[in-house]
Amino acid sequence: MKAKKRGLIWFKNDLRLHDNEALVTAQQECSEVLCCYCLEKSIFENHELGFRKADLNRFRFLEQSVTNLKANLKSIGGQLVIGTQSALVTIPELVHKFQITDIYAEEEYASYELNIVRELQQKLPETEFHFFWGKTLYHKDDIPFTIDKIPLTSKAYRITAGRESEPRKTMDIPKKLNPVKKVKATKFPTYKDYGFTPKEYKNAKPFVKGGEDAALERLEYYTFKSEELTRYRWSRNQSEGMDYSSKFSPYLALGCISPREIFEKVQAYEQEIKKNQSTWWLIFELVWRDYFTFKSMRFGDQIFKTKGYKNRHYQWESDPAKFRKWCGGKTGIPFIDAHMRQLNQTGFMSNRGRVNCASYFVHDLKIDWTWGAAYFESKLIDYDVSSNWMNWHMQAFEIWYTNPVNQSNKYKAQDFIRHWIPELKSANNMEVLIPWEYRFKGYPEPIEIYPKWNRAINLIKK
Ligand code: FAD
Repeated sequence: MKAKKRGLIWFKNDLRLHDNEALVTAQQECSEVLCCYCLEKSIFENHELGFRKADLNRFRFLEQSVTNLKANLKSIGGQLVIGTQSALVTIPELVHKFQITDIYAEEEYASYELNIVRELQQKLPETEFHFFWGKTLYHKDDIPFTIDKIPLTSKAYRITAGRESEPRKTMDIPKKLNPVKKVKATKFPTYKDYGFTPKEYKNAKPFVKGGEDAALERLEYYTFKSEELTRYRWSRNQSEGMDYSSKFSPYLALGCISPREIFEKVQAYEQEIKKNQSTWWLIFELVWRDYFTFKSMRFGDQIFKTKGYKNRHYQWESDPAKFRKWCGGKTGIPFIDAHMRQLNQTGFMSNRGRVNCASYFVHDLKIDWTWGAAYFESKLIDYDVSSNWMNWHMQAFEIWYTNPVNQSNKYKAQDFIRHWIPELKSANNMEVLIPWEYRFKGYPEPIEIYPKWNRAINLIKK
């Protein structure tokens, strides 16, 4: 017999029914459940650098994902209440109105989210909270390190974790939820409540559609349907198109898909279709994602600081005019500008693009790396605290320079550049990589051409 618990399932970055321990446990332990998602209005406010902390593509992608969750919950009898201001407002209201005894939610790891959880616990001393770790491929209790001993190099983490840990099995979707009576599902709020204009909203076109359905469809497509996974190892460094890489990151960021679901699908693919370097590499990338999560937990808020967790002091130049050019895709360096324009329009950028834009930002423009990380946070539909800030940190402090002129040639980015920079549409394959040598109407002069690029420029001209 179930105890007379009345549960609230608080969805956050776990916007899915499959493999969701909070959902499964609440359904098992409670006689009635209420489902809730809360937007945090403050994340759409302005950053001191002059852009929104989270911009419209993120809002749109979230809207699609939460709306899909609402429909999927309905199909098993659940009603999703959507809070519009903050969990700190909506959840206490729901707890008191519906006599909620227990709250079930995914466990958080970063300070902004943890502070909300702590404040909520203080507001609701009578309510029992249950948290479940669900973000990573390996459960944080199953890795062979305590968080304070997470290694400083990914290799040291990966090899040991890979040898000694196993992902847990995915959980089934509950067949039926028993909802708290008289609770009505509510609509996703309008963009206007967050200060976006109709024009901005209309123009926002996230790179992929949000939601668990779209995520599972993408997983099926990338594996069994198209078998694109087989060539991932060799295509993953490109920049243009849907299939050179998995595009799982936006879904992982909001938890529309669980990493263990991906793992099990890849295992099945290896058994039935092909096991090769590509299938290994995709899982390797998920392990990277785990590593950054655990490492960010080890260093806490130091990962957001200009000096980083190593407390390194650099003389950043941080010229605001250069920063604005970089943000707008107007540096005059086509490989950088094409990627930044793609990011601004779609909320997505390839890994190759991110590496180049970040490296150019810190090593050539010499701007405080936290400004770049904040801008990516605003724009990326796959924004993930640890993946974003730890990758930026790595570009700033731990990794060698990436030459954007050389890379544009190496990765044959001509068509990609012509696609995103209309001013260079008519440029030939040589001109489009080094347009400052030829002049193209309307395309900006480069901020600076560095002598260290000479070799790459001469190679293109050959
Ligand atoms: P695939 O190549 O198909 O990889 C599969 C999955 O592995 C990805 O979905 C992602 O979850 C994970 N993964 C791959 N590379 C990395 C990596 N370097 N670090 C962590 N996880 C990785 N990724 C985010 O998910 N959110 C971010 O906010 C983010 N910011 C970044 C900022 C910078 C400066 C850099 C260099 C990288 C950043 N990345 C971030 C990592 C990476 O660029 C994206 O995960 C990847 O491009 C997403 O495309 P995909 O899903 O097709 O990746």
